[in-house]
Amino acid sequence: MDYLRPRTWQDAVALKTENPAAVPINGGTDLMVEIKFAGRRPACLLDLSHLQVLKGWRKSNGTVELGAGVTYTDVLEHLGGDLPALAIASRTVGSPQIRNRGTIAGNLATASPAGDAHPPLLATGATIRVESMRGVRDVPVGRFFTGPKQNVLEPDELIRAVLVPAARGPQQFSKVGTRNAMVIAVVSFALAFDKPSRHVGTGIGSAAPTPIEAADAAAYLEQELDRGGYWEEHRDLPAGTVDGFAERVAAAARPIDDVRGPAGYRVHALRVMARRTLRWAWSALETDGTHAH
Ligand SMILES: Cc1cc2nc3c(=O)[nH]c(=O)nc-3n(C[C@H](O)[C@H](O)[C@H](O)COP(=O)(O)OP(=O)(O)OC[C@H]3O[C@@H](n4cnc5c(N)ncnc54)[C@H](O)[C@@H]3O)c2cc1C
Repeated sequence: MDYLRPRTWQDAVALKTENPAAVPINGGTDLMVEIKFAGRRPACLLDLSHLQVLKGWRKSNGTVELGAGVTYTDVLEHLGGDLPALAIASRTVGSPQIRNRGTIAGNLATASPAGDAHPPLLATGATIRVESMRGVRDVPVGRFFTGPKQNVLEPDELIRAVLVPAARGPQQFSKVGTRNAMVIAVVSFALAFDKPSRHVGTGIGSAAPTPIEAADAAAYLEQELDRGGYWEEHRDLPAGTVDGFAERVAAAARPIDDVRGPAGYRVHALRVMARRTLRWAWSALETDGTHAH
């Protein structure tokens, strides 16, 4: 197995063009498992893990740019204010060791339908910045996943960064697994309110071949909030609205039966999680004392 260790990001991009079959490695928490236990034998590894330029984040114009080396620990220790749903999701990932090594970009590239970063990134409308010698392109996260463990990356492309709009309202994430820690999601759900635009964002994990949005549910909730004047005068949501939202979230799922859970259970759990996250997020909106402009 060849091992490439670029000195700079520019070197990494050039090496990927020269060796399109080279497999990038960052935290290695997915790839090393595949190599050690699933018999994957890449002819060549392209190590990105030491590139300092990928490890930082910055906020400009209301967007947080996460370098491809940003880990779950970085997010939950430093970015909980701007990226609350991603921080809550990050806290549920693996163990401290996995959270210290595993990156958001690695989670995206693996493109598992159960990846925990995906629902928050969908709910907040994140964008994946991808780079090759041909240039840079920004892919909305909703178009990034093309199938189970498949994504839009071309053989010469690397993920450079993930751009996430900073929160302008409450966000939530919920995950059901077979236990509380070190567990792959049986099903997961993220919800994000953007107060200034009165937008509701959603993301469902582990209930379809790819992570998906619950677009009908979000549109329904936006309509109900507008119609009832809930943004202007904040009060408890009627049970019918909460149930209507939860039903539509459950209807968006296209789960399968697998070792982690039957499809029917996933739909049921999703309905419960949609209801809970909506109540949690809505009460946070209520107590923070601000209203939409
Ligand atoms: C014990 C254990 C527990 C886990 N628990 C969870 C969990 O609870 N939730 C969860 O979602 N995941 C979990 N994972 C999976 C894993 O930790 C995450 O998917 C993590 O985000 C992967 O990031 P990484 O940097 O380690 O990726 P790597 O293993 O380095 O790479 C993963 C994939 O991404 C590609 N890649 C990496 N960086 C780039 C880049 N910049 N550009 C293009 N491609 C790139 C690699 O080629 C590879 O295909 C767990 C793994 C283990 C071993």
